[in-house]
Amino acid sequence: MVLQTVDIVKNEIPLDEERVVISETSRAGLVLVDIINGFCTVGAGNLAPREPNTQLSEMINESVKLAHDFCDKKWPILAFIDSHHPDKLEHPYPPHCISGSDESNLVPALRWIEDEQNVKIIRKDCYDGYIGSIQEDGSNMFSDWVKLNNIQVVVVAGVCTDICVLDFVCSTLSARNHGLLEPLEDVVVYSKGCATFDFPVSVARNNKDLQAHPQELMHHVGLYMAKGRGAKIAREVTFKMV
Ligand SMILES: [Zn+2]
Repeated sequence: MVLQTVDIVKNEIPLDEERVVISETSRAGLVLVDIINGFCTVGAGNLAPREPNTQLSEMINESVKLAHDFCDKKWPILAFIDSHHPDKLEHPYPPHCISGSDESNLVPALRWIEDEQNVKIIRKDCYDGYIGSIQEDGSNMFSDWVKLNNIQVVVVAGVCTDICVLDFVCSTLSARNHGLLEPLEDVVVYSKGCATFDFPVSVARNNKDLQAHPQELMHHVGLYMAKGRGAKIAREVTFKMV
């Protein structure tokens, strides 16, 4: 049998996923990262998928389910939305998710959360939601949300697994370890609730300026890196009544 590259990588850096059970008495918050048209809706912009994509569709479905679970319990949800001033673009990416454009809106399946009392939206202009939450006065909107809601566990879903999700998870764990996020204890990344984009090496070879980004492999590596920093990787998130 000839192993595909992705199988070889998964053999070399196997990912230990777990079933995460969240007790109804624990204080949990859901963080949705960039589930917006500019990254998830076919044809919506420079960084949007060009054609329907199974990993992205599953990510949206799973994130919507989680959002319903949290809203039913009136538990806090924070949604990051990539949003750029037209004069301040984000190197090395082409223009995307300009403030006020439809690219910078939640995908249609998630727009309903904007009307929910338990949902906070943070617009950010950089990959990392933790850094993007820093305001001019030095306060941090994400950190304030954790403290205000007394959050002990954050469950993270969204895009891209190996970019904005990973950067946010790494910064959050680093800030927690530095004592900046009390009472936060655990960061859980829900694997099926995350996705990344596909740019196969066969296409990238024809363009010197662009790096290859094979979807399944980079998704796996993103989760693996998050676990290496101390995140729990969940293959399933369930809730336990007490
Ligand atoms: Zn951006």
